[in-house]
Amino acid sequence: MNTIGVLTSGGDSPGMNAAIRAVVRNAISNGCKVLGVKRGYDGLINGQLEEMNLSSVADIIHRGGTILRTARSEEFRTEEGRMRALNVLKVFGIEGLVVIGGDGSFRGAQKLSELGIPTIGVPGTIDNDLAYTDYTIGFDTAMNTVVDAISKIRDTSASHGRANIIEVMGRHCGDIALYAGLAGGAESIIIPEVGLDIDQVCKKLIKGKNRGKLHSIIVLAEGVGGAIELGGVIEEKTGIETRATILGHIQRGGSPTAFDRILASKMGAKAVDLLLEGKGSLVVGVQGNKTFSIDIDEALSLEKKLEEDAYQLADILSI
Ligand code: ADP
Repeated sequence: MNTIGVLTSGGDSPGMNAAIRAVVRNAISNGCKVLGVKRGYDGLINGQLEEMNLSSVADIIHRGGTILRTARSEEFRTEEGRMRALNVLKVFGIEGLVVIGGDGSFRGAQKLSELGIPTIGVPGTIDNDLAYTDYTIGFDTAMNTVVDAISKIRDTSASHGRANIIEVMGRHCGDIALYAGLAGGAESIIIPEVGLDIDQVCKKLIKGKNRGKLHSIIVLAEGVGGAIELGGVIEEKTGIETRATILGHIQRGGSPTAFDRILASKMGAKAVDLLLEGKGSLVVGVQGNKTFSIDIDEALSLEKKLEEDAYQLADILSI
């Protein structure tokens, strides 16, 4: 394999740059040329490519976002769009492609593999919503951002004796809420995998208040509903003043943690190794600190499961 392409697609996540760096440097050290595709599949369709060298990825390991930028491409969902992308890949002589993104981007990667371009997916999403891997790139950074926010909100929550609901990202997955809630000592964690039991949440708040607790933090995953509406219901049911904070896109930015940088470096390099071994149609994951690869179809067919023990533990510890 002489020429490898790399793109980032879908929602961005901290650590994508570290993954791009690993792809570029591992490929070059193996004698390959690397073309960076700008703006995901949209850029591929429109031929927005440029050759990357060792210095194109200098000074980026610590930067959030993605230097290749990202996009959502409606055109790539059509057969016509994908044929245009295939054409661009052929014109530029790209023999293998690394796609860094979430499950949607992996579905796109699967389609390119079916068209004969060996494609490897690297999981870049803060949501940690891919069942086949323990961690996705960006999750750890996002979780730490939320934990930092919980600490800050707890200070003001205690001063005023209020309850605070913190709405966090994760789409249909509750991992950010669960693990940030556990790390931040939240009183209640509400996630889509379990659903909302409003009476249980209110009971906990009232019991806490009666015991002299000055603050209450409720972490709400966006997949369950909105913090503002929930705050209104809680205030009405308990009489406890309740404020809502929607953390929003702050969770998608920032310098990646050491964990995410290491994960991204290992996964990006592994993707190139797989292409050089002549493999395609795979995604890279991590299990028990070891990177591995699995067929894209199989990876996407697995159902993400809640770590029940962690959820129970958070409940026990927040009495
Ligand atoms: P993420 O990768 O973060 O899950 P999206 O779901 O928005 O983000 O997917 C990113 C892009 O991947 C989409 O804009 C689209 O171009 C492409 N994509 C998603 N699903 C498919 C599909 N079933 N077939 C072809 N391309 C797809």
